[in-house]
Amino acid sequence: YLRSNPDYFAREKGETAVTDATPRLEVQHISRRFGGRAVVDDVSLKVMPGQVTCLLGPSGCGKSTTLRIIAGVDMQDEGKIFVDGQLVCDTVHRVPPEGRSVGLMFQDFALFPHLTVADNVAFGLKGSKAEKRARVEELLTRVDLLRFIDEYPHQLSGGEQQRVALARALAPRPGIMLMDEPFSGLDDRLRDDIRDETLSVLKEEGTAVLLVTHEPEEAMRMADEIALMRDGRIVQQGAPYNIYNAPVDRAAAGFFSDIN
Ligand code: ADP
Ligand code: MG
Repeated sequence: YLRSNPDYFAREKGETAVTDATPRLEVQHISRRFGGRAVVDDVSLKVMPGQVTCLLGPSGCGKSTTLRIIAGVDMQDEGKIFVDGQLVCDTVHRVPPEGRSVGLMFQDFALFPHLTVADNVAFGLKGSKAEKRARVEELLTRVDLLRFIDEYPHQLSGGEQQRVALARALAPRPGIMLMDEPFSGLDDRLRDDIRDETLSVLKEEGTAVLLVTHEPEEAMRMADEIALMRDGRIVQQGAPYNIYNAPVDRAAAGFFSDIN
């Protein structure tokens, strides 16, 4: 497939223009072994501009390892990753995490306790003081927290801290946001609202998302596309409705069966 695709070599050299048809993220056949065991086994997936793709699967199936490889904090044994059509790593070359134009949000989204909300959001930003301030105000307005701009994290609720973390991750305008179970630490009561708010902020910013979750309900609620993972492999990929209605096997059906 790769060899017969005329775009392949040009794209690998970064010579192809980015269009709306260029995936924000494309993962091709990545594998990762720990002590001889394939924890990630030939995983391929794409995230298109403006879309949310959920990597969904039970605990231990290899989701976080996949995300860490995409983020550049771990390295695959096989396969390639492209961001906006640019090769960011294969098994030989590797762009460091900060050069990948990816944003990161994890469950443990710890803000810097000694920095104000404004300084937390501005942390990774470059540019003049005025430019940074303008971006911080824009983002805090988007997450509806401008009034807390000079407060410290401990003065905010868990949900508010989560929104500051989202603003911080979005500040450098990453083309794609990688989110690893970002809502699992939140109170049940708040979770649906925060999911919806997060999604609308990401859509307004035009940021594509790869969301890792073990909760089918969350994937159904948030995803444009679901990649169902089991034992390190993607077993099914498609629109949430299609996966829910036509699970690939009994295990996939069982996984979705608790949703009501
Ligand atoms: P998930 O995020 O889907 O719960 P993980 O990617 O965290 O799964 O882990 C998948 C499997 O890989 C688990 O069995 C885990 O114990 C194993 N694993 C993850 N990281 C390492 C590591 N650095 N060394 C050895 N095993 C690991
Ligand atoms: Mg995990």
